Amino acid sequence: MARRHFFDAGQPERVEIIAFEGAFHGRSSAAIAAAGTEKMTRGFGPLLPGFRQVPWGDNEALEAAISDTTAAILIEPVQGEGGIRPLPDACLRGLRALCDQHGILLILDEVQCGMGRTGRLFAHEWAGITPDIMMVAKGIGGGFPLGAVLATEAAASAMTAGTHGSTYGGNPLGCAVGCAVMDHIADPEFLSEVRRKAGLLRQKLEGPVAGHPQVFEEVRGTGLMLGLKCRAPNADVVTAGYDALVITVPAADNVVRLLPPLTISDDEIVEAIARLDAAATRVESAPEKASA
Ligand SMILES: *Cc1c(COP(=O)(O)O)cnc(C)c1O
Repeated sequence: MARRHFFDAGQPERVEIIAFEGAFHGRSSAAIAAAGTEKMTRGFGPLLPGFRQVPWGDNEALEAAISDTTAAILIEPVQGEGGIRPLPDACLRGLRALCDQHGILLILDEVQCGMGRTGRLFAHEWAGITPDIMMVAKGIGGGFPLGAVLATEAAASAMTAGTHGSTYGGNPLGCAVGCAVMDHIADPEFLSEVRRKAGLLRQKLEGPVAGHPQVFEEVRGTGLMLGLKCRAPNADVVTAGYDALVITVPAADNVVRLLPPLTISDDEIVEAIARLDAAATRVESAPEKASA
């Protein structure tokens, strides 16, 4: 969309999309090229050209990467696979300003951090900015496979009927599911409950972190998108969690990701903490066994 936008605007040389190290944008051909990591791209070349990655949080490298051929900056407001790394609000505002200054588009990937996950409908709302293009999926279907691309009228102006499309795009079943999910998640009361429960979970997580310093280092993240930075191998913690009947998922930077359902109850939070604590005890007492 970004490329077509500039093509139609008489700037066909603007094709490059700048992304960030540690990013994850999915596993399509374009998405693995955007992330650019060895893990994502190995054996899947040749890669789609026109993407480059700059170190996360390196303003100088970012500004140096912007040129006459830049079309857009693409970023996750909270890196998910990258290890639950929230972009500070000031940085998101800075990115918005940088894009405006250079006349390029800001593309936000809210596939993992959007749809109420951080306690606002979209994570970027915390920074008080708006993107030009945004990808949304996962939570938007509440378990049903559904994704959407949102854009401002200006950014999407070149996407006229027949320009681009998808066989299943706009299918009535998927859209009906999405509408039903939106009715719940966009409710301010639902979102304030997410924020309250997020506070509770975060506060309770300090228990296992303080109690198991050999296993956990710190809690990071925002809303119900939290990460436990581990000292023990994160894979061991995840495995021990399975045994204690709590499902977590590993992420980069030796982090264990906690992405509970937004409908989790207070009792379930307490229960999850107890199970995480049991998992940590297991890792401490039998590290070899936990990883076997
Ligand atoms: C899950 C996810 C995607 C989509 O991944 P696919 O493997 O293509 O389904 C894109 N971006 C982010 C940030 C994600 O977490």
